[in-house]
Amino acid sequence: NRTVRLASRPTGEPSAENFRIADEPLPTPGDGEVLLRTIYLSLDPYMRGRMSDAESYAAPVPVDGVMEGGTVCEVVESRSEALEPGDIVLAYGGWQTYVVAPANQVRRLDPTRAPISTAVGVLGMPGFTAYAGLLEIGKPQAGETVVVAAASGPVGSAVGQIAMVKGARAVGIAGGPEKCAHVKDELGFDAVIDHRDPEFKAKLKEATPDGIDVYFENVGGKVFDAVLPRMNTYGRIPLCGLVSQYNLTRLPDGPNRVPSVMQRILTKSLTVRGFIQNEFVKAHYKQFQADMAQWIADGAVRYREDVVEGLDNAPEAFLGMLRGTNFGKLVIQVGAD
Ligand code: NDP
Repeated sequence: NRTVRLASRPTGEPSAENFRIADEPLPTPGDGEVLLRTIYLSLDPYMRGRMSDAESYAAPVPVDGVMEGGTVCEVVESRSEALEPGDIVLAYGGWQTYVVAPANQVRRLDPTRAPISTAVGVLGMPGFTAYAGLLEIGKPQAGETVVVAAASGPVGSAVGQIAMVKGARAVGIAGGPEKCAHVKDELGFDAVIDHRDPEFKAKLKEATPDGIDVYFENVGGKVFDAVLPRMNTYGRIPLCGLVSQYNLTRLPDGPNRVPSVMQRILTKSLTVRGFIQNEFVKAHYKQFQADMAQWIADGAVRYREDVVEGLDNAPEAFLGMLRGTNFGKLVIQVGAD
């Protein structure tokens, strides 16, 4: 069994030295358990948080523990009546080629319904994050303007496209001309802006002539600074992620901006609501799966995957994602080493 373990906790930007790749004996399943072979490993920004022992909503990966992550796996050996060898399942198997899991903690997938990798992408956690955060908190109305950054990624791309399904105008923010072209031309956003453009602020203004009603926050930092003054009265900000800040070791230079941010929230009657997608699973996951499958079938929602081959390449691919080198939902195809 090949594993990727957390060798040490990073300070600031993580590096390859924070990971350790090892070959270990294959685990054996006990009663009610299954041995799974990983086919796809999902890499997601939240894993940066698991590398750190700062207080968070979930426990950190222990030093020397296997890195955590969602996986799509094949059942190799089963000691449960519920599953048999050859079944494809969604699991939380982590960064490793094989894992033993209780059969009742994995979900069987139907490979004839959708490509199995989508179970960790558009039809899985990131797609659901977009769906629940946008519809339950953002509540976009027809004709309103919805802005989202990391717009070519799995969360942002779904946010903009769901907003358009609801009749809103979608404005995406992405890094670089290639990603921007994809967001505008392939995903059909109404407008897109490159956050690296020196004219970013002016272009955001141009792209949002009627102001912004919903800002789905994925990145924070200078994107948030540019968006906030353009928020309309009663605007909503689902606070989903702050990926530009995950590697910060100290507060950014400059004056404390909390007072001016608070004042803007007050005077514009804004709703800023943080969330972790789990809180919506019980009430909304089933409907999400039906709606998203339908939107994909209709062509209303498109998705792009960035498939990197080989578990050994997971650390490098993960580090790149925090800087934006991924283009679409990042998954590792395991076993292709
Ligand atoms: P992505 O695949 O979109 O990857 C992250 C993207 O962030 C990069 O590709 C890059 O895109 C962008 N980015 C990185 N640094 C910066 C920066 N300094 N300024 C602007 N953009 C930057 O990730 P996901 O779609 O998986 O996740 C998007 C967000 O949603 C993350 O913040 C994540 O933590 C959050 N999330 C929250 C969940 C919740 O329950 N609250 C659940 C799942 C995800 P580009 O090159 O276009 O800038």
